[in-house]
Amino acid sequence: MHPIDLRSDTVTRPSPAMRAAMHDAAVGDDVFGDDPTVNRLQQTLAERLGFEAGLFFPSGTQSNLAALMAHCQRGDEYIVGQDAHTYRYEGGGAAVLGSIQPQPIANQADGSLVLAEIEAAIKPDDVHFARTRLIALENTMGGKVLPLAYVADVASLAKQRGLALHLDGARMFNAAVKLGITPEAVCAGFDSVSVCLSKGLGAPVGSVLCGSRALVTSATRWRKMLGGGMRQVGMLAAAGLYALEHHVARLAEDHRNAATLAAGLAGIDELLVEPVQTNIIYLHVPSSRCAALHAHLAARGIVAIIAPKTRLVTHLDVSTAQIAAVLAAFQDFFVHNR
Ligand SMILES: *Cc1c(COP(=O)(O)O)cnc(C)c1O
Repeated sequence: MHPIDLRSDTVTRPSPAMRAAMHDAAVGDDVFGDDPTVNRLQQTLAERLGFEAGLFFPSGTQSNLAALMAHCQRGDEYIVGQDAHTYRYEGGGAAVLGSIQPQPIANQADGSLVLAEIEAAIKPDDVHFARTRLIALENTMGGKVLPLAYVADVASLAKQRGLALHLDGARMFNAAVKLGITPEAVCAGFDSVSVCLSKGLGAPVGSVLCGSRALVTSATRWRKMLGGGMRQVGMLAAAGLYALEHHVARLAEDHRNAATLAAGLAGIDELLVEPVQTNIIYLHVPSSRCAALHAHLAARGIVAIIAPKTRLVTHLDVSTAQIAAVLAAFQDFFVHNR
């Protein structure tokens, strides 16, 4: 029996059917462009998201970094949210490896950046300043879906000011499923999108960067330099293709499970639960109770990172019955065991 692991949607294990698809995958040397399964994955995702080309990466971090490096040259700048993954959780790669200066802006509660603040951060063409080249958004951001009308406004601002627009769409499919629209509609207006296969989609590894043919050609060079040129990697791409076919629509189930759990947790006086949109729940736990709660859950086979601001994530390896067990464990701790 595996524990009920709510730390992240990255913890899923490939199912027997996904493993069978990986086992049977046709492969070739992808650095030579010879791997038919990688090529099919790249093409499939590019088409589905409305781009000319796609490129398979070992991780979302590398995919985002190669995208930033393809858009920006040394001494250029990108405008990004203070809480964005590319800025905050990727080791400063844009600055360290890309020589790209980040210009962070505060994220609003809904994950957006205020348009006027983006505009104010765009630098004039003057030797004193880095050259502003790119705006980067994230969707979903902390499990929240960016409103389509907002994205359209940022896209038109970018266009007006001659800037490129990148989407860190690690959980872009969660946004599409939540809004009930096509992935292509979520990606409309962006010049590039990075999508994770190894989060809610349940593949063991991989991200795909989509964009124009020219952008992907440039990103391919950076990927090689960053050590992401892989060989008979069709076995991993097969997992991604399997996930795209079988694990997209079912994200709605993760969203339902998260909503159910959040509603139940909201009934516990000591917890403050933030509104939930997709598969990520944030709840505020009294700090004096964190250690004991963690131990209580662990003793019941529930793995979670319990902190004053706790994040719980639902995914395809957590069933609705297990969600009920998680809720019961919380109630047992806070209500019955005071
Ligand atoms: C996980 C994640 C990434 C990076 O993906 P890795 O494969 O873990 O490198 C990028 N952006 C967001 C929003 C993520 O959640």
